[in-house]
Amino acid sequence: MEYIRKQKESLPVLAICYDFDKTLSPDDMQAQGYIQSVGYDVKRFWEESNAMALANDMDGNLAYMLKMVREAEGNLVLNRKELERYGSHVQLFPGVEGWFDRINRYGKAHGVIVEHYIISSGLKEMIEGTEIAKNGAFEKVYASSFYFNERGVAVWPAQVINYTNKTQFLFRIEKGTLDINDPGVNEYFPPEKIRVPFRNIVYIGDSDTDIPCMKLVNSYGGHSIGVYDPDTGNKEKVNKMLRDNRIRYIVPADYFEGTGLDRLLKAIIDKTAAFEVLENKHLEDLRDV
Ligand SMILES: [Mg+2]
Repeated sequence: MEYIRKQKESLPVLAICYDFDKTLSPDDMQAQGYIQSVGYDVKRFWEESNAMALANDMDGNLAYMLKMVREAEGNLVLNRKELERYGSHVQLFPGVEGWFDRINRYGKAHGVIVEHYIISSGLKEMIEGTEIAKNGAFEKVYASSFYFNERGVAVWPAQVINYTNKTQFLFRIEKGTLDINDPGVNEYFPPEKIRVPFRNIVYIGDSDTDIPCMKLVNSYGGHSIGVYDPDTGNKEKVNKMLRDNRIRYIVPADYFEGTGLDRLLKAIIDKTAAFEVLENKHLEDLRDV
């Protein structure tokens, strides 16, 4: 099996990695149509799902996936099309639709290739149903996903993504070994072959499942950003993350031009471009001695 790998570019690559629920969307994606259509109250669905996880020493995400498959029975056909349809109705935070193109253009104008990645415990099929994903905003969507049987019905988890296993995707992005099964992610890459060094990784998230990624990105010189809902203004989680040194910055999840997040990302692009000039000068000088 030949895996397609991304090679180092002549320009620096800045990878912006996003959690999905409560980072790009104000609520959990399952709570924006699916849970209601299987006749559940959102709160009760999560209570039962979490109780199943607790009672069986089960991963919380595996529990919600099993519950989704079970509750669909007799209510709806849980196939890729249906999941994508739910995804197409997921609400996004203000300005998300215009964000990706604008940041890409800013990067391009400053000699930086900007790429966007999703790393989410939510569902890949739903994320792929969103308008932004259909428009090609994401280089890759890493999220929990289903295995579909020969009739196209979800029967088993194909991937489950949670806490520390979220971090493996940062290493995939770093090395360009993006395929989920590419064992090359564990190979040694000399620094000059690293496509996206950690200093060029941005991680944007809102809660506990993001902490291992945030900590890793922060520790290796990257940029971890905590976002909070601009409507509620509740900063409790992100304030704690900043105090605990998981993140460096806190901004509202408002993706419009001129907002705190917009200015922060542009500053990171400026820094990336400036660092590249210095690094290239250093490498040139090294070659001459
Ligand atoms: Mg989240």
